[in-house]
Amino acid sequence: MKHLLFASAAFMLLACSADTTSDVSKATSDMKNAAKDAAKAIVAIDRELPAPADDLRTESIGNNLYVIFGPGGNVGVSVGDDGVLLIDDKFARNAEGILTQVRGLTDAPLKFVLNTHYHGDHTGSNAQMAAAGAELVAHENVRKRLGMTFENKLFGRTTNAVDESLWPTTTYDGVTDMMFNGHTVSLIHTPSAHTDGDSLVHFKEANTVHMGDNYFNGLFPYIDVDAGGSVLGMIAAHNKVLAMADENTVIIPGHGPIASKADLTAARDMLQNIHDRVKSRIDAGDSLETILDANILQDYEKYASFISEANMVRIAHRSIIGE
Ligand SMILES: [Zn+2]
Repeated sequence: MKHLLFASAAFMLLACSADTTSDVSKATSDMKNAAKDAAKAIVAIDRELPAPADDLRTESIGNNLYVIFGPGGNVGVSVGDDGVLLIDDKFARNAEGILTQVRGLTDAPLKFVLNTHYHGDHTGSNAQMAAAGAELVAHENVRKRLGMTFENKLFGRTTNAVDESLWPTTTYDGVTDMMFNGHTVSLIHTPSAHTDGDSLVHFKEANTVHMGDNYFNGLFPYIDVDAGGSVLGMIAAHNKVLAMADENTVIIPGHGPIASKADLTAARDMLQNIHDRVKSRIDAGDSLETILDANILQDYEKYASFISEANMVRIAHRSIIGE
């Protein structure tokens, strides 16, 4: 696909690296049975379904950085002399609410939206933000995915391409740094993690990182295996952040409250355990139905929400058989 380089002097393209888009395994008939309860599960991450009612709230996290909580993904905000930079922009119906929250912080112009990945609860307001002056920036696979119609075999549904007005106009691969509001802002691609086009956004001097949906704080994670995501890739993304974090690092998850390195460590350990438990069952010859019946995630039941324990097993199973 076309690689669009930055026209803005604020950007410096530092490095590129190849990434892999692994097309995952075929659906089993068992997985079709997942479709019904999964349909409920997908509400929080689906771009075609109506968003829940607006209820936005902004929290300061220091260094002129903020997070807007509410429906959809957590929005990171940088405010300063260069203007306003957003990380993700929830659903289309949240655009006005997001801009109202920003206007409560500053009159400076909106300059950038960085999309951590393609899901509609993180890119839904892209068209309105572009109309408000933002340049839309993301990993190149975000643009690719937003322009594709493809099957979500896990949930037995179709993910439709969206209008081009929502696509990022500036893309990168590997790692790229931009200087904005006195921050070095690193976009770091995490291959085959939550999707095939996720970015970590690291504010280096502020010791703050927005992980997008590479981190669901306090919840079982959704992993979009049909869009190139994998359990091992998400664990690798967790480890990447843990390697650059210390006790003071502020971690913004895609969903859930602000987190610490200790919180992320616990999430990484849980995900590794989920992977290892499901894999050992597969290696022993158990069917998906047998694994589901064994209730192997009972000790993690407090993490079940829009991803139930059963769906967490299905996601891990589907990811592992594709390894
Ligand atoms: Zn997502």
